[in-house]
Amino acid sequence: RAKSAGGNRYELADPEADARAITRHGLTNALPAALERGEFFIEYQPLVHLGDGQVRGAEALVRWLHPQHGVLGPDRFIPLAEHTGLIVPLGRWVLEQSVRQARAWRELYGDGGAAGPLRINVNLSPCQLTHPGLVQDTVDILERAGVEPDALCLEVTESALIGADDDLLKPLRQLAEMGVDIALDDFGTGYSNLANLRRLPVSVLKLDRSFTQSMQQYPADPVDLKIVEGIVALAHSLDLTVTVEGVETGAQAEQLRILGCDTAQGWYYARPGPPDRLHDLALADATG
Ligand code: C2E
Ligand code: MG
Ligand code: MG
Ligand code: MG
Repeated sequence: RAKSAGGNRYELADPEADARAITRHGLTNALPAALERGEFFIEYQPLVHLGDGQVRGAEALVRWLHPQHGVLGPDRFIPLAEHTGLIVPLGRWVLEQSVRQARAWRELYGDGGAAGPLRINVNLSPCQLTHPGLVQDTVDILERAGVEPDALCLEVTESALIGADDDLLKPLRQLAEMGVDIALDDFGTGYSNLANLRRLPVSVLKLDRSFTQSMQQYPADPVDLKIVEGIVALAHSLDLTVTVEGVETGAQAEQLRILGCDTAQGWYYARPGPPDRLHDLALADATG
């Protein structure tokens, strides 16, 4: 029972809000043991080159197979893990698994010729950026797996880097100098100054799904077309690659290809899935 702000009356607290709070609380408390027991797993979603339609790599997306609640998506538990700091060991685990998977793909498909080996994209939380072990952990993980830094792309959201000072950018600069790609995730949802891009050690822009969604109608909104065209032109003039998220239809893919986007990701190609699903797609490529 909560005392209302107004005075002496008492009101029942919202039972649904209580249930949500308990679940959040319960999930938060269960996180460390879940990591120890191996309840997390990773799904991989292919990244497809818009020019030749071939799979160039995949993004690693973490899930939690909760013994009572079933499979939980990252939006349910990543914020909780960020809040308690568990994101640091969890993020390190995701990185290690993903890099080892990239190694396994290389063993299956070789070095991919001119396009290079299949690459792996891994999401980083802002808390991981401020953790002093990030650079050394990444170096160690790559070395242990025998994977070159340039097969790895770390995704950081635009909002995490807004107003970032040099201390925050330093580890990203070090990683970029080693050859790791840094992607600005969900680009276009924040308020970053486009000129600011030059300051960031970023080599990939991931255009947010909202842009892709506006390519849904035919003909697409001319203003949105101009905006995407402008972003792509700016990105390319700064030597950045443009990846688009959330491509659900062939028409969207075609529109975004015409606008000059380089790589695409979305349900149109494949939903996130187990690593062997990527095998199938990559093999389909290789065999025609
Ligand atoms: P994100 O990095 O922007 O990942 C893309 C999200 O879009 C994924 O959601 C993916 O399943 C979804 N998606 C892909 N294609 C389509 C499509 O065609 N249509 C629609 N509607 N959605 C699509 P998911 O897997 O639920 O992940 C949500 C967010 O959780 C990610 O957004 C990322 O920010 C975060 N996340 C996932 N894995 C990790 C991780 O290992 N570490 C950290 N720190 N964050 C992670
Ligand atoms: Mg991402
Ligand atoms: Mg994204
Ligand atoms: Mg997104």
